Amino acid sequence: MNADTAHPDRAAPAANADPAELAKFSALASRWWDPESEFKPLHRINPLRLDWIDRLAPLRGRRVVDVGCGGGILAESMAGRGAEVLGIDLAERPLKVAELHALESGAAVRYRHVSAEALAAEEPEGFDTVTCMEMLEHVPDPESTIRACAQLAKPGGWLFFSTINRNPKSFLFAIVGAEYVLRLLPRGTHEYGKFIRPSELAGALRRCGLETVEMTGLTYNPITQVYSLHQTDVSVNYAVAVRKPG
Ligand code: SAH
Repeated sequence: MNADTAHPDRAAPAANADPAELAKFSALASRWWDPESEFKPLHRINPLRLDWIDRLAPLRGRRVVDVGCGGGILAESMAGRGAEVLGIDLAERPLKVAELHALESGAAVRYRHVSAEALAAEEPEGFDTVTCMEMLEHVPDPESTIRACAQLAKPGGWLFFSTINRNPKSFLFAIVGAEYVLRLLPRGTHEYGKFIRPSELAGALRRCGLETVEMTGLTYNPITQVYSLHQTDVSVNYAVAVRKPG
């Protein structure tokens, strides 16, 4: 039994969590900060998404919550840009790794084992910026997570989400290519049925009262091994920047 399933009560506020998904991330946690590990793609995309967030919603002095922060790659880097960051996740081992890493690096980040929904009830409108990257495709009810993120943001606040599109190309690239051919990710990391089309994400964001400002693709060229933000190609990985009206 791993640390997550050993404390079902602690995850209880989050009916919106899949224990198998949390166990997957816990099992890999010790390698989170190894830039050549299963988390290599997160390390490689991090500078791109960090600059993108910082350009749209400058991080210095902002209060930020990173939902589904895992081992803290994005959370720490946002703190490095001068934000006051709280990272939350429901997998315990990645959070422990995040805490230890922050101790070593001296990053000004706090971490909590709490669901987005529970934190939203505790601290509604408590944050200038909410980030939720590569996480929605791992939860049973992504719209519930989005609604909680919307509640966490102050009026006028910014929110950033990223996920994976659902179409034959994303099946080929994100699952067959990444998990079976290039072996960038362990098999079973992603489930095709949980991928989210941009139109579906846009609908959920709208129903949660959020206004889309920008959508960008995140592309990977397997030949050059270069990741880049792509203004129009949202066919596989993509991210949206949205605002809460204020
Ligand atoms: N956002 C980080 C990590 C992405 S990996 C980054 O982009 O660098 C996906 C993360 O989502 C894992 O840490 C996993 O534990 C977390 N996660 C999955 N389901 C969750 C849930 N229901 N609530 C909170 N976190 C969850």
